[in-house]
Amino acid sequence: MTRTINFPFSVDSTPTFPEAPPEACDVVVIGGGIVGVMTAWFLARRGLKTALCEKGRIAGEQSSRNWGWIRQQGRDPHELPIMVEANCIWQELAEECGERLGFRQTGILYLANSERELAQYEDWLPHAKANGIDSRMLSEQALADLMPEARLRWPGALHTPSDARAEPWQAVPTLAHALSLRPEVSLHEGCAVRALDTQGGEICGVVTEKGRIRCSQVVLAGGAWSSLLARAHGVSFPQLSVKSTVGATHPLPEVLRGGVAEEDFAVRRREDGGYTLAHGTYRELFIGPDAFRHLKAYFPLIRSAHGGTGFHLKAAAGFPDAWGTPRRWSADEESPFEKQRILNPPPNMKLLDSMATRFHEIFPQLPKPTFSKAWGGMIDTMPDTVPIIDRIESVPGLTVATGMSGHGFGIGPGIGRVVADLVAGSATGYDLSRFRYQRFAPGQPIQVSPAF
Ligand SMILES: Cc1cc2nc3c(=O)[nH]c(=O)nc-3n(C[C@H](O)[C@H](O)[C@H](O)COP(=O)(O)OP(=O)(O)OC[C@H]3O[C@@H](n4cnc5c(N)ncnc54)[C@H](O)[C@@H]3O)c2cc1C
Repeated sequence: MTRTINFPFSVDSTPTFPEAPPEACDVVVIGGGIVGVMTAWFLARRGLKTALCEKGRIAGEQSSRNWGWIRQQGRDPHELPIMVEANCIWQELAEECGERLGFRQTGILYLANSERELAQYEDWLPHAKANGIDSRMLSEQALADLMPEARLRWPGALHTPSDARAEPWQAVPTLAHALSLRPEVSLHEGCAVRALDTQGGEICGVVTEKGRIRCSQVVLAGGAWSSLLARAHGVSFPQLSVKSTVGATHPLPEVLRGGVAEEDFAVRRREDGGYTLAHGTYRELFIGPDAFRHLKAYFPLIRSAHGGTGFHLKAAAGFPDAWGTPRRWSADEESPFEKQRILNPPPNMKLLDSMATRFHEIFPQLPKPTFSKAWGGMIDTMPDTVPIIDRIESVPGLTVATGMSGHGFGIGPGIGRVVADLVAGSATGYDLSRFRYQRFAPGQPIQVSPAF
């Protein structure tokens, strides 16, 4: 019997960081996912007094529900340098925080089922080379040698040995715990930010459900909720969320060490001896007012998508884009963020059963996997599948880091370092123009990322 659960804890469990927020600090970070936690991490290193506000639990949403892939392979060329840095940061974090991150450099493998996929992988290789990444094409035989337990054959594959994995629902809470030991930072769970506080258009603080915090800088790292809060302050971007389903199998013998994906199937070895299984590309979109509002911006992505999207006519109550979700509210009343502490959509068990079947086709010598746990996660995405990492000119003091588009866990530490530098007014070392907020201004063409 599969248990569907909330990671890393149940919705009703006692917060680890229940303290009320301070009256003032230098920077407020909104959101306790990997991006918010790592931004606070690097702000603290710069000596900036930082308060991180999380409406539910640290890593209660995407940052604990993901596959745990730390992947350079197949990335957008503009993200690649940040991802290479993130990979190095993960190694440092593992040294600092130890085994609980579950960090292992066990490689990532993309199996090709067609000439089209092989050509796509080949085309991407120069980007790997330009960034010093060890990605390489594997022939049918080299692949069979690397995956000797697999009973199926593929014409080839793309392999990146330096790619890694970590255990998401252990990693981010472990990082948050280490962060909480720093004197510059305070963490506040169950503390929704209802509104930005501005004076003459500039940030002067935030209003939380537990009181006001004065500050001159705010980082919005609210995952699937970012556009709802931003839009209430006149900052509009076409962010939507799609559901993805994941299952953790009971322990099975080790036939893979890292992550392996085909277009329709993804599997990763887990620290507990099981595997994390998911569909490689299928997502479910729950239609609400934002889906209508931004439909046109998503046309190019829908045309180029391979795995398909399941459409549901009605977003469930409490989803960011539900029909009943208020778009405006007063800062002294309960906001949509408090009404939905942890976004916890039910998993699609039919889909998971087909993933177990595919695993069994590849490794028929093992019993068909059964799931010990299964869950859904809402992936926040942008129409071009790269994030917004930008200071917002119309609201001085506001920095947005959101729209990680299904691959923000691995790159999160790199994004955190970059955002902390943006906030501190230091050079980030990268050209961030691909991630600017204004790329979605009316009349700008949407350039869908060539990432896969
Ligand atoms: C099923 C699934 C599989 C994935 N697989 C991978 C993978 O293998 N590798 C990878 O790199 N990425 C993967 N991703 C994507 C990755 O998990 C996300 O991109 C990443 O976790 C996003 O981090 P975040 O900090 O931006 O957002 P989140 O983790 O969603 O955190 C945002 C937080 O902000 C809080 N918040 C929002 N609004 C407010 C407010 N007003 N006040 C206070 N708090 C607020 C929310 O409660 C939430 O906890 C996957 C995602 C899913 C769902």
